[in-house]
Amino acid sequence: MNTIIHYLLIQNQCLLQIILYLFDFICKYIPLKQWVFDDSNSPKYQKFKVDEPPIIIQREVWFYKDFISYIKWRYGYVITPVKRRSLCDIPDDCTCPYCKAPKEYLYKNNGSHNQILCKVCSRKFQTHANELSGKIILRCPHCSHTLAHKKDRKHFVIHKCTNPKCPYYRHNLKNVDKKHINEPFGKNKYKLHYIYREFTVDFFKMDISSLPKNSSSLKFTKHSSYIMSLCLTMHVNLGLSLRKTAQAIKDLYNINISHQQVANYARTAALVIKPFVDNYDYEPSNTMTADETYIKVRGVKGYVWFIMDAVKRSILGYQVSDNRGVGPCILAMRMALRNFKEKLPEKFRFIADGYSAYPLAA
Ligand SMILES: [Zn+2]
Ligand SMILES: [Zn+2]
Repeated sequence: MNTIIHYLLIQNQCLLQIILYLFDFICKYIPLKQWVFDDSNSPKYQKFKVDEPPIIIQREVWFYKDFISYIKWRYGYVITPVKRRSLCDIPDDCTCPYCKAPKEYLYKNNGSHNQILCKVCSRKFQTHANELSGKIILRCPHCSHTLAHKKDRKHFVIHKCTNPKCPYYRHNLKNVDKKHINEPFGKNKYKLHYIYREFTVDFFKMDISSLPKNSSSLKFTKHSSYIMSLCLTMHVNLGLSLRKTAQAIKDLYNINISHQQVANYARTAALVIKPFVDNYDYEPSNTMTADETYIKVRGVKGYVWFIMDAVKRSILGYQVSDNRGVGPCILAMRMALRNFKEKLPEKFRFIADGYSAYPLAA
């Protein structure tokens, strides 16, 4: 016994030596300084930053008929509908968001990019441009430069201040590592320009408690509710597969039940329980945590989002989605936040990883 203790003590000493050696190595060669450095100030992480809102200016709108009459009166020139030589694939209900000119006055500006040019007001726009975008001008809050329509993402449009003299851009450029800037496309690694994301989907009009249409009833023709509860105990509580549950019911109780029937029971139970789970008053605390992960359902990759009460551990919001965009994230957050009936509690905290969808959704 003594020798074993002696041997273990020596072993311990040896391990401590190794730890000391490794610690020394870390101190010498791995810059600990960067851990102390406040990441949020680094331009490298600016991509995750949500800028302040832009200056919104209402644009004076000319109606296309007035415009045509004005040009005729002033310059004696009549704007005629476009003469088309080839088939036009502009949707029939597409109108110019600036002057409401119908399809007859619109033509494709550059084949592939869906950009449309209005013959009346000579403005360019996208096929799916909403009416609002024609009526308002977005300006950079730092330099008042008009924001350029840059990219169309799944749920939002990116407007960017491209002014090279913008103080916001200048300031960010100063903080960037010089060697990165000189690389080809080096600037693309950073978010240097002012950006505004205009959402194209109204997430506050979407129904978050809708059920799938094919819900089944709880009428028992072949089996009883007792057997249903047996199925659920094995399939849900014990985590047996559908086939194993059916097998266990057969082996233990000599009841013939198909795995499809077990699946139907599980589905029905889920549908009946969902409204209760969703609307239960969880009395949430003032701290929430959020995370997302991916699951494979029948070989198709999907994403699950969970928002949890950090103290009580109850799941307050959840969503399953086919994309990792900001849309499902917003829906999950709305679901969690509706637990607060009037307003957010004081000292409310929302904890999530660095994924950019969270600050954007917030
Ligand atoms: Zn127009
Ligand atoms: Zn600017």
